[in-house]
Amino acid sequence: MKTYINVATLPPSSATPSARAEAEAIIGKCVHCGFCLATCPTYQLEQNELDSPRGRIYLIKSMLEGGPTSTQTQHYLDRCLTCRACETTCPSGVEYGRLIDIGRHVSEHRATRRPAQRVSRLFLRRLLLNRRLFTLLLTFARLARPFMPSALQRKIPVRWPSAWPTPRHTRQMLVLDGCVQPALAPSINAAAARVLDAVGITLVRVPKVRCCGALSQHLSAVDEAAAFARHNIDAWWPLLETGVEAIVMTASGCGVHVSEYGHLLRDDPLYAAKAARVSALTRDLSQVVAAEMPALRQALAAAPSSGLRTAFHSPCTLQHGQRLRGVVEPLLSAAGFELSAVAEPHLCCGSAGTYSILQPRYSARLRRRKIAALTLAAPNVIATANIGCLTQLQSGTALPVRHWIELLAERLPPIEPSSPSNIRTPRGDEQPAERRVLKQPNAATARD
Ligand code: SF4
Ligand code: SF4
Repeated sequence: MKTYINVATLPPSSATPSARAEAEAIIGKCVHCGFCLATCPTYQLEQNELDSPRGRIYLIKSMLEGGPTSTQTQHYLDRCLTCRACETTCPSGVEYGRLIDIGRHVSEHRATRRPAQRVSRLFLRRLLLNRRLFTLLLTFARLARPFMPSALQRKIPVRWPSAWPTPRHTRQMLVLDGCVQPALAPSINAAAARVLDAVGITLVRVPKVRCCGALSQHLSAVDEAAAFARHNIDAWWPLLETGVEAIVMTASGCGVHVSEYGHLLRDDPLYAAKAARVSALTRDLSQVVAAEMPALRQALAAAPSSGLRTAFHSPCTLQHGQRLRGVVEPLLSAAGFELSAVAEPHLCCGSAGTYSILQPRYSARLRRRKIAALTLAAPNVIATANIGCLTQLQSGTALPVRHWIELLAERLPPIEPSSPSNIRTPRGDEQPAERRVLKQPNAATARD
C-alpha cells in the first residue's frame, strides 16, 4: 500500500512549495516493503526501525504533516549517513537522498539543537570551508606528526608528489579543486591531470572555484550550499562558453553534489538554466578515463605489471549517488593491478562527509567492518575514489590507501620535472604556479 501525505497541512515555513510537493511525491512511492533495511548500515548496526530508511521516512512524513518534531526526530535523521544504499535497493524508486535533505531542513527549523551541537556544526563549516585556515592547521599537524602515536599519525594523510604536466592539448576539461582535498592530497588532481594528459586531454583548474557546497548541504545550511553553487557556476561559466568539454570531479562526494546543481537551483530564475548545464557537463573522473580506454591502453603499453593486489572501495557517492558501478575496476586491471575480492561492497565506510566527526562511535564501527571486508583477501593496497573515504580508511589501517587515479598515474612514464600547474582565470590567461620535481612515488620515501 502506498503512503500519502497531505501537503495542505504542512506548516508554510517548513519548506518551499516545490520541496513540499517533491516530499509528497517521494513518500507516496514507499510501499513499506522493508527491502532497504537489508542494505542500510545503521539498521545493520542497531536493528532498530527508527535507524532504518523506512523508519526515517515515517519520521519525516509525520513531521511534514505537522506532527511533533523533537530532538529525538533530529537524532535519528542525523544518524543517517546519506549513503543512499537504500535508494539503489528500493524496488519502488524512492528518492531517499532528496527526502532526507528536505526532512533535515524542516527539522532544523522546528527543533532546537543543544548549544554544543550548534557550535560544533558551525565550527566544522567555518574550519573545513576556509582553505587557508585548514591548510595552516594541517601544516602544523604534519610538523607534529613524528611526535604523535601511530593511530593519530594515520589520521594525517601522506603527501605524495603533485607535479602537473605542461598544458598541450586542444581538448580541455575543467577540474574542481574542492575544499579540503587540495590541502590533504594535492597529488590526486595532479595524477588526474597526468592520466588525462596521456590520453590527449588537458585538465584545467579555475582558482576562483570554491567548495562544491555538499558539506553545507549535509549540515542543513541550505542557503550557504546554494550560494556556493551560484559562485562556482559564475566562475566556470566563461570557460564553459569557450568550449571546454566537461567539468571533471576527482572526489565522488563533490561529483554527486555538483551533478545535482540543476535540481538545487531549479527555482532560481537567474541560475536554473546555467545550473542545469553545469550538471549536464559534470563527469566523474572514472567516466572520462573509461571513455578513453584505447588511448589509456596505449599509454600504459610499456608499463610492467605492478604486482600489487588491490582492494577497491567504491564510495557510496559513486555507486549509490551516481550509480557508477564497475567503472573503476577495469581501469585498475588495465593498469596491471590485480583486484582482490571485497565483501559487502555496498556498505558505507563511515566517512560520509562530517559524519566521522559528528557520529564518531558509529563511524568507527563501520570503518572496522569495512576494513575487515577490504582486507579479507590480503591486498597490498586499498584504492578508492573519494578523499573522505580515503582519510577514513587510512586512519584505520597500516596498508596504504590511495585514490585509484594515483595508482594509474604511477604506471605512466615520469613527466618533465618542471611543469607548471594548469590554472586559468575566467579570461583564459594561463598562470604558471608552483614547480616541483616529480619522483616516482614510493611509500617508504613519500611520507612526510
Ligand atoms: S525499499 Fe523502498 S518502498 Fe520498500 S520500505 Fe524501503 S523505501 Fe519503502
Ligand atoms: S541513506 Fe544510508 S544510512 Fe541513511 S537510511 Fe539510507 S541506507 Fe540507511
